[in-house]
Amino acid sequence: MKFRIVPLALAFALLISLFPASGEAYVASYSLNVPAYAKVGLYYGSGDLVYANLLNGSENSVGHGYKFGYFDAARNFFSVADTDATAITMVKDRNLYITRDSNNRYVDTATSDFMGTLGCYHIRLPYSYASYAEARDVVALYTGSFILFENWTYSVMVGNYFSASEAVADAAARGITGTAYSGSDRTVTVVETGTSHILFEFDCGSALSLGIMPKPDYEGQKPLTWFKGYKYYGGFQYSRLSGNNITVVNVVAIEDYIMGVLPYEMSVSWPLEALKAQAVCARTYAAQNVGKHGAYGFDICATTDCQVYRGQNVTGDSITQAVAETAGQYVTYGAAIAAVYYHSADGGATENSENVFANPLPHLKGVIDPYESTVKTGHDLWTFTYTPQQMKERLNAKGYAVGDILSVTPVYTDVGNIFSLAFKDSNGKTFIFKQRTAATILSWAAENKEIFSQRFTLVGNTTVNAVVPAPSSGPVYIAGAEDTELTSANGLYAIGGSGIAEPLAGSAITVITSGGMQTLNLAAIAEGPRDSGIPQTGTSFTITGSGWGHNVGMSQHGARAMALLGYSYEDIIRFYFTGVELATNV
Ligand SMILES: [Zn+2]
Repeated sequence: MKFRIVPLALAFALLISLFPASGEAYVASYSLNVPAYAKVGLYYGSGDLVYANLLNGSENSVGHGYKFGYFDAARNFFSVADTDATAITMVKDRNLYITRDSNNRYVDTATSDFMGTLGCYHIRLPYSYASYAEARDVVALYTGSFILFENWTYSVMVGNYFSASEAVADAAARGITGTAYSGSDRTVTVVETGTSHILFEFDCGSALSLGIMPKPDYEGQKPLTWFKGYKYYGGFQYSRLSGNNITVVNVVAIEDYIMGVLPYEMSVSWPLEALKAQAVCARTYAAQNVGKHGAYGFDICATTDCQVYRGQNVTGDSITQAVAETAGQYVTYGAAIAAVYYHSADGGATENSENVFANPLPHLKGVIDPYESTVKTGHDLWTFTYTPQQMKERLNAKGYAVGDILSVTPVYTDVGNIFSLAFKDSNGKTFIFKQRTAATILSWAAENKEIFSQRFTLVGNTTVNAVVPAPSSGPVYIAGAEDTELTSANGLYAIGGSGIAEPLAGSAITVITSGGMQTLNLAAIAEGPRDSGIPQTGTSFTITGSGWGHNVGMSQHGARAMALLGYSYEDIIRFYFTGVELATNV
């Protein structure tokens, strides 16, 4: 049976409604209890640092000098001291060697090229002071002296030495009254970069961590600070957790954080409404994950584990505009911050959260996506085969003691994504993998058998499928281009009742034919049978799929496609997240 579609000629009734992009987004207001600043972990755990260089006031950054202090529980900064030095380094208060190469490194053990030392023993003067001003007056009297802020009091220290006896000897030689002192395993020392010139020390035990806030430049411009090759807005926090090396955290206003996420989660060249949808999702993720990495003293990390964030190196008008036009807006469900997920491409349908991860969430429901296929995703279609022997090898390699594979039974979800795979083996055992594991268990990148998403079929070559025919199954051709088989509506136009030609999107369209109204399910035709629960057998199993990611929440390529079709960021968010609102915090 052949159907013929005559583009731009016949009257089409569309399954998908082509509603025009709405204007102003409707934004509600709720008490969402979101912090104004995000704490973003830059270096922590096994990546913690012996030394952390900051550069300020150089030709490409903005600001002049730094304030030293701490961030309170509400992430507000309180200053206790300051410096006009523009290049500073925070080190752990231990005996260190300075390698005066271009990286100004401070290291635990001597290298052949070390040019100086930084000792952790000092001469402690006998008085302490209640104010920074008093302590600073004393510092002015002694060469090589500096202030230690220790449990809310200011003390004055002189010099740096590799041992207590060296400190005592130098005190005697200089006629200074004081005792030898070395910091605790929580002390952080601030030096002028590349030197042993100590500017400040901070030790409030585990109660508070050193906070550093760059000062604005002399014109009052917002500071922008270099740290390890990236420019950051906001301040930094330095903690020595359990006495280890330094954990570095960027404490940054939420909107500045989103500016540093957006170009790494979506291409700056994508349409504005897609970038706006991504900005709202990124902001919502940050609000939803406050304290996710609380054990390390911050909320979210700067990698794909949370969201990629690299400060302000990549900027652009579209980024600035997308963040500004959605400023303060979050995705909410039932007047609370919604858990948002996103992925690169859904391949035709998103999925219920409980069918991929653990818990059902009312706003994370699978939807058939008629938009994404109107753009190229880079993962539009992938297919490869497995022999039963290769499946056995793959499962064995992953630690599952399967025998010879007799059959594989795929179970699909309501929207046609994979839910589970059951492998029946020659020992009479059945191994069942569900949800995200069902999609990853057979993935084998080294053999070019890579499963990129939840949306794929598995068909054995000798299976007798009780085929449930897709609606109007059979090849579909365009009249006048009979050698082109149609597998999506991509690039087709239809004249609607209003007389306006509109692009046809997606994989399911209804046409009026000589036989009456018919539904063409182009995606089902393209993918072949999708029979749930039927054991697949054979000498070869073909896996065919589309999309890239876990299929839960927003498809980024789908957002791009919707934006190109004229939909707004609010339309995009409401399409991918069921029953949600946009809201600001009050
Ligand atoms: Zn993380």
